[in-house]
Amino acid sequence: MAGDPYVMKNKKTIYFSLACDVDPDIDSIDASKEYWWGIASGIPLLRKALRIPMTWLLRADRMITEVYSDPAYCFKRFQKLWEEEAKTFKSEIGWHPHLFRFDGTNSKWLPYLGKDDDLETLSASLDALRQQADVVSVRTGWEYQSNSLMKLFDQKGILVEASATPGSLQAGDWSHDWRGTPRMPYHPSRSDYRCPAASREDALKLVEIPMLARRLSPLLRTARFALRAKRGVFDWPSSAWQGAIITKDPRCFDQAVEQTIREGSRVIAAYCHCSEFLEPENLKNIMINMESLFSFADHLGYSVTTTTLAGLGSLLRSSDTELIKCA
Ligand SMILES: [Zn+2]
Repeated sequence: MAGDPYVMKNKKTIYFSLACDVDPDIDSIDASKEYWWGIASGIPLLRKALRIPMTWLLRADRMITEVYSDPAYCFKRFQKLWEEEAKTFKSEIGWHPHLFRFDGTNSKWLPYLGKDDDLETLSASLDALRQQADVVSVRTGWEYQSNSLMKLFDQKGILVEASATPGSLQAGDWSHDWRGTPRMPYHPSRSDYRCPAASREDALKLVEIPMLARRLSPLLRTARFALRAKRGVFDWPSSAWQGAIITKDPRCFDQAVEQTIREGSRVIAAYCHCSEFLEPENLKNIMINMESLFSFADHLGYSVTTTTLAGLGSLLRSSDTELIKCA
């Protein structure tokens, strides 16, 4: 049936992937100070508690290029750590571009979205990062996406795009629009990145792996609508959806996991930011959330296999083509 997302072949296994956006510790940076404690101190703290393969999504974009004169700065500066990650944990290096422009009036970097999408700069940034590592996975800053950006990723041979927060709409300084996006992996349509392609001709080659999101109860949905209305967003459908970040509220994460699995997905993809590892509460939440994912899966009779985003992509591509309904 056209439009259906993937269904995993092996129904006895749930595949879990944890991706980390490797951003500097604050949004607006310059070269005069140290802004990378999330990597230098945060990742070793995480590794004391968690030893699964991770997808480290490194910043490489206009900001990194202009501040450090090298789009691959984030890789080169911490090269030993990334090599150790690959060797010890089978971790993956991916890409996390943000669309920022420097605002001279306010002397800071500000989101620059929905215009030309900076395609040439992003393309060059990916090329530079690929001089260092075999990059096939991407998650964009603020989960922003557009048809032109998605097509660029596809043309560049990206295999896994993992920015989607199903159902979510954000407006303001930064924004994204994932209304109508399913919670299961899919090949995006060329004409609307948010939806599975209706035919093989319409389908991009890359696979979209949505991040965990929960559907809110009617009461919480109404409260969320009122909260967002204060910021000028009057959209009822997207008020029902909330992204579930693994470092935060365990109730939100639990509900997102339970709803996603009960909906039929065998793929659970979650994300975090490396600066969050500096807060003990966030590390504690990661462990609580992982534990609850494993026990919920066990309760339903599934085992959990941890893998990277590239690992999920490869698994989905090798699935029986009859199960790939969208392309
Ligand atoms: Zn980011």
